[in-house]
Amino acid sequence: MSEEIFITTNTEQTQELALDLAKKLKSGDFLAFFGDLGSGKTTFIQGLAKSLGVKRRIISPTFIIVRTYLINSGTFYHIDLYRTQSKDDLFGLGIDQIVQDKTSIVAIEWAEKMGDMLPQKRIELHFKNLAENKREIKIKKYE
Ligand code: ADP
Ligand code: MG
Repeated sequence: MSEEIFITTNTEQTQELALDLAKKLKSGDFLAFFGDLGSGKTTFIQGLAKSLGVKRRIISPTFIIVRTYLINSGTFYHIDLYRTQSKDDLFGLGIDQIVQDKTSIVAIEWAEKMGDMLPQKRIELHFKNLAENKREIKIKKYE
């Protein structure tokens, strides 16, 4: 496991960090996001999507839990599990299938809700609110 910690003081810096990460991503990569509401998970994913070539604006999928975008290398999934209740919900959404799709890049908010469905090989991103515009973003890579 490797771990890096970053501090950002505005949304642009958070999205620049996403761009740096996007450059290193490959098909099959799975990104698990953790952190309170408003800590910047969706903001980061917006930067990520833009860097991966998504032209449409990424909106917070609060009511639509799974959003699918086509990118050059395949598919980019943005998933927000905030409103899911149970593992049945995850199967209902096809999360188990999405996780196995090696042609896609997956970014999933409230990843703790996946429990033991979380893939072993993953990149974890932990967000913390330090002050109004200050965020700590910890990136852990598990092989
Ligand atoms: P989450 O998806 O974790 O609930 P959002 O990305 O939707 O969070 O919201 C983060 C909010 O915090 C946005 O309103 C954004 O403008 C604001 N913000 C302020 N400073 C930062 C920062 N350094 N990084 C990310 N977002 C920030
Ligand atoms: Mg969000």
